[in-house]
Amino acid sequence: QHAASALEQFHGEELYDPAYSEPPKGTQSHRTDTFVKEALQVLDYPERLQKLLLTPHRELHVELNITRDSGEIEIFNAYRVQHDNSRGPFKGGFRFHPNVSMDDVRSLASLTTWKTAVVDVPFGGAKGGVRCDPKDLTEAELERITRKLVQALKDCVGPDKDIPGPEISAGSKVMSWWFDEYSKYKGFSPACVTGKPMTLHGSYGREYATGRGVVLATRELLRNEHMGKIAGKTFVIQGFGNVGGWAAELLELYGGKVIAVSDRTGAIYNPEGLDIRSLKRHLKAQPPFGGHLSSFPGGERLPLEELLSLSCDVLIPAAIPDVITEEVAATLDCKYVVEAANGPTTPEGDKVLRERGIGVLPDVYANGGGVIVSFFEWVQNQQTFRWEEEEVNRRLDRKMSDAFERIWDVHTTQKLPLRTAAYVLALRSVTQATMIRGFD
Ligand code: GLU
Repeated sequence: QHAASALEQFHGEELYDPAYSEPPKGTQSHRTDTFVKEALQVLDYPERLQKLLLTPHRELHVELNITRDSGEIEIFNAYRVQHDNSRGPFKGGFRFHPNVSMDDVRSLASLTTWKTAVVDVPFGGAKGGVRCDPKDLTEAELERITRKLVQALKDCVGPDKDIPGPEISAGSKVMSWWFDEYSKYKGFSPACVTGKPMTLHGSYGREYATGRGVVLATRELLRNEHMGKIAGKTFVIQGFGNVGGWAAELLELYGGKVIAVSDRTGAIYNPEGLDIRSLKRHLKAQPPFGGHLSSFPGGERLPLEELLSLSCDVLIPAAIPDVITEEVAATLDCKYVVEAANGPTTPEGDKVLRERGIGVLPDVYANGGGVIVSFFEWVQNQQTFRWEEEEVNRRLDRKMSDAFERIWDVHTTQKLPLRTAAYVLALRSVTQATMIRGFD
């Protein structure tokens, strides 16, 4: 009886939502490859080595059958790409987003390989994604998806193999379910995933680590460009989630003027600088007293499409990929772009920014604070010990400053854009590890 009614589900038209089953046009398509190839030209590596560095180690595609709260079965496509593990276990987030595709995940997995190398944490690179719209899912459904994902991937991941972490729409709750489900199969394993909450083997400072790292990266950039301090500079931030929201708050703390921010619902602008903490309080309140950016009384509403071209010192894209295209790049009115999101600038957009003399601090370094503190969390889990918040932040600062110094050195001595300089460093480091390990 039960089996028969379950089978019925497979005849329903609603089973395959075309929006989730058709791969989208590859937005991210080989973006990372484009940047890697540029750096490979500088390094002049033999072709076979180039191929090795560009090819992912393993690509997994699984279908997750989920019972929705309504009782219907729905199938979600999930991907995990393990790009390179020559420097350490694979590492990278798992995102829940309607645009996720294998192509997307492949590009982001490669980006993570170079990111862990640039910021010098002993991990490789991976990325995962579930093609779904979290806005349409209840918390219970999201939990079931996460648990199913662990069931499907449990033998390919683990504390010494592949360690997922937070990403778009995958915060500390998802990481807790991951930890719980994985531990059911493999025994108590807090180091199997990072970005866990403080009450469940998380680390101090992980929640705001990416935002903090972005601010530290910006500090280093301004200092080395002889632009002075963050205090008094103007910032525009696209995205007010975990990354953009924390970057805004910390920039304000350092005396920076965050003149505009946006989220999916709208943008808000105040040339004197927004009061970020009261904006956050406003967003937490219920409508009609708050809840939306656009109803915040401390600024004026701005059409979303005007945000990126506002005049400012530093533009910080902190949301989704592919926002600074060739056309958008031609309209920017900032001195620097600091990439807090993964892949916010397309290769064509990047070219225009270079021609226009707008400096770009690339994602592969600028948003590395997240994975750095993920590494610290993993270390603490292995030690079964918790570091103080000051210690986490001090070590993060050190890692971000040291990495900047290395990139800046290549940038100035080899006269390369910061992005290419970062990729050159990363490629050297991964290649060294690969060669020293040997092939047999
Ligand atoms: N999602 C973050 C990133 O793109 C961090 C992932 C992690 O901590 O594993 O760097």
